[in-house]
Amino acid sequence: MELTPSQLAHAEAARGFMPPDEGRALWVAANDAIAGPLLEVGSYCGKSACYIGPAAMARQQTFFCVDHHRGSEENQAGWEWHEPDLVDPAVGKMDTLPLFRRTVHDAGLEDTIVAVVGDSPRVARAWTTPLSFLFIDGGHGVEPARLDYELWTPHVALGGTLCIHDVFPDPADGGRPPYEEIYLPALASGQFEERSATGSLRVLERIANA
Ligand code: SAH
Ligand code: MG
Repeated sequence: MELTPSQLAHAEAARGFMPPDEGRALWVAANDAIAGPLLEVGSYCGKSACYIGPAAMARQQTFFCVDHHRGSEENQAGWEWHEPDLVDPAVGKMDTLPLFRRTVHDAGLEDTIVAVVGDSPRVARAWTTPLSFLFIDGGHGVEPARLDYELWTPHVALGGTLCIHDVFPDPADGGRPPYEEIYLPALASGQFEERSATGSLRVLERIANA
């Protein structure tokens, strides 16, 4: 099975930070997941959602996309990954929600994706639905990564999938928090086992409850 040429075209055209091979690995992982809702933390303009969404749609599952759409620290003016045209001039802050919505619409995913607009820890603290699939790609500072691990991973159902982006075991390749605050603790907990690695993407499975 493959993404259709149209699905692939939408994913590759979407703005964001997801190389094609890692995007495809996300789609494979979402296809292989157990039944139940899917959720990603960190949607930006909808690129990763264009890879996960088609798998959720094919399996008739709802896919929640959590983001405050104000950008991470590294997306702000003066930082490495800033895109100035994504600032809402009326507010003076980044706003990726309009582009996210357009991307989701154009990709034909409006009936599959539910955007949850808000601060990840705030949403997580109110969340109770077990997840078949969780993709963490939100704030990459130590504290945001630690909170996403602590507050979201307990919601992954037994046999469910935990995907983590921007995992760099070698500091020369990139920032450490997704590796040190999410990936390593997940494995050390004894509750997750690694299933695959593609670029900086790691796919884990919950093998035991807390
Ligand atoms: N998955 C995306 C890239 C995500 S970039 C892609 O495929 O392109 C990281 C995103 O995390 C940004 O959009 C930022 O707004 C979001 N983010 C960072 N900290 C957050 C927080 N505390 N709550 C909600 N979203 C957050
Ligand atoms: Mg990322």
